Amino acid sequence: MTQAPATGRSALVTGGNRGIGLAIARALAADGHRVTVTHRSGEPPQGLSGVICDVTDAASIDAAFSQVEADQGPVEILVANAGITDDTLLLRMSEDTFTSVVDANLTGAYRVAKRAASGMLRKRWGRMIFISSVVGLSGGAGQANYSASKAGLVGLARSIARELGSRHITANVIAPGFVDTDMTQSLPEARRTEIVNQVPLKRYAEPSEIADAVAFLASDRAAYITGAVLPVDGGLGMGH
Ligand code: NDP
Repeated sequence: MTQAPATGRSALVTGGNRGIGLAIARALAADGHRVTVTHRSGEPPQGLSGVICDVTDAASIDAAFSQVEADQGPVEILVANAGITDDTLLLRMSEDTFTSVVDANLTGAYRVAKRAASGMLRKRWGRMIFISSVVGLSGGAGQANYSASKAGLVGLARSIARELGSRHITANVIAPGFVDTDMTQSLPEARRTEIVNQVPLKRYAEPSEIADAVAFLASDRAAYITGAVLPVDGGLGMGH
């Protein structure tokens, strides 16, 4: 268990058991925060606290937050990172395929943000960081469900930024490009090469490069940044 200094905040990262979420959790822990990750099964990653949580289930979220509050205090830094893809072209996309992705990626983020907000309001301090995607802003063929969910995070974050800003609570969005994780390793090699050719920096991001941006937005140095969409995409979206 990573020990946090007295200055550390209570942080929760959804989907923090692997991929980008795990890198975010490790970066926040390295900055001295008390960090818990959510996971749906198995054991939490080595050196981190974990809590079982499915973001499609409000009761599961409530139980997870209660445990985090008891263990490390009310959540001050929330990273809504959990997400899924279920790609197919629009004409073949069933309503269930659309709504299940929106439910996990967008409604799930709403659920955790709402649960976190009351504690942040009491503290009069908070950081909410939503992990969107370059395709939330550019669209993606075969990704109407995923792109819509990721675009929705922008409206969600900006509304929260307006509602809670007077209480020193910020809400920001990070829009990663292509990151080397399980999610992208499942792409065919030809598609991976095609993607890299479109990226000005000519490579995938490492999860730690997304995590560094999150750690900055979570810090006191980012106190005057809210409602922002920060691309971390190797130039793919050119700032959108
Ligand atoms: P992974 O597929 O490697 O990990 C996804 C994480 O989300 C896992 O921890 C998974 O938990 C969790 N998760 C999925 N559904 C739920 C749920 N219903 N409740 C709780 N947890 C859930 O993905 P990445 O690390 O690549 O992606 C992380 C985030 O970054 C996602 O939101 C993704 O959309 C976004 N992103 C990723 C990009 C990339 O190129 N990889 C690019 C742009 C954005 P479990 O282990 O239990 O399945």
